[in-house]
Amino acid sequence: MSSTAPQPPSAAFTSDDYRARMARAAAQAAEAGLAGLLVAPGPDLTYLTGYRPTADTERMTLLVLAADGEARLVVPALEAQDAERAPGAAALVPDPWTDAEDPYALTAARLDAKGIYGISDNAWSLHLLALQGALPHTRYRGLSDALPMLRAVKDERELERVAAAGAAADAAYEEILRVPFAGRREAEVAADLAALLLAHGHEQVDFTIVGSGPNGANPHHEAGDRVIAHGDMVVLDFGGLKHGYGSDTTRTVHVGEPTAEERRVHDTVRAAQEAGFAAVRPGAACQDVDRAARAVIEDAGYGRYFIHRTGHGIGVTTHEPPYMIEGEERPVVPGMCFSVEPGIYLPGRFGVRIEDIVIATASGGRRCNTTSREMAIVG
Ligand code: ZN
Ligand code: ZN
Ligand code: ZN
Repeated sequence: MSSTAPQPPSAAFTSDDYRARMARAAAQAAEAGLAGLLVAPGPDLTYLTGYRPTADTERMTLLVLAADGEARLVVPALEAQDAERAPGAAALVPDPWTDAEDPYALTAARLDAKGIYGISDNAWSLHLLALQGALPHTRYRGLSDALPMLRAVKDERELERVAAAGAAADAAYEEILRVPFAGRREAEVAADLAALLLAHGHEQVDFTIVGSGPNGANPHHEAGDRVIAHGDMVVLDFGGLKHGYGSDTTRTVHVGEPTAEERRVHDTVRAAQEAGFAAVRPGAACQDVDRAARAVIEDAGYGRYFIHRTGHGIGVTTHEPPYMIEGEERPVVPGMCFSVEPGIYLPGRFGVRIEDIVIATASGGRRCNTTSREMAIVG
């Protein structure tokens, strides 16, 4: 395995970037009729402030972003120094609280007692229930429900990071083709994939799916003790974070020569992936990407074996809105990036999935994964 030293992104995000993101989030909150946003540690806080507490504990940390743009960070006093070092700290008013104080009373004093607030999906119920107790007339909506597209449209530097993460995942794929498959357990190949992602600059591996033979027909299979055999189709789906932004790619390889049916199924998925990619253009709805990919699989007679949505957004997490799924009528907007990943799963036999991350541009889709989508033959 060759290794590539992590390259720093061309430019780090500055406090101005975070200030602009918070201003945009506040404006969206106002437009949605919210009094503000309550953002707990997790992807939204990372996105809005760059602050990632080392531990999310029972001591409440909460960004209180009012619809007028005022941003306060309610933070345990013993973590205030860490918070001050966050890249977006200059755009925040710190609101530290000590163990002798009640953080919910402190927060309640900052809120509109009759307002509706969007709150992070992953906020602890401990904190939300206590806030509800302090302000019984305040109401709450889940942030992904209230502002589903908050992080969906990326700026140039975010897109640069998504592209770099994709290139690193591609490099990992090129190298995994050279390791032995036959006679090794799925978990061993998965460990190789994880090591390759790290060697190519990822700081975090989120998943390394190795689904051989019948395990490939289970889209949620991760990797297990099954020993890969000659004649197996093997689904490889892997990704994680590089410089804070996600990768996620799938290729399906075969150990030795495939049968005519295996080739037909793989060709069908490849054509579906191509059709989904071609449907990525401004003016299209997210569901059009799903429809385009699904039509190819249905026309080939495998419609009932394509058992998941065609894609999901990617950014500071590896799964987030927008979703490429029937019923999602929101438009594809330049700057969105998401997966296009159709599959066919034949229960008890084998599965095939092919996945690229695609950036929507003014003129169509741009792939972040450029390795061959043809069926690679491995040993
Ligand atoms: Zn086979
Ligand atoms: Zn994937
Ligand atoms: Zn995916």
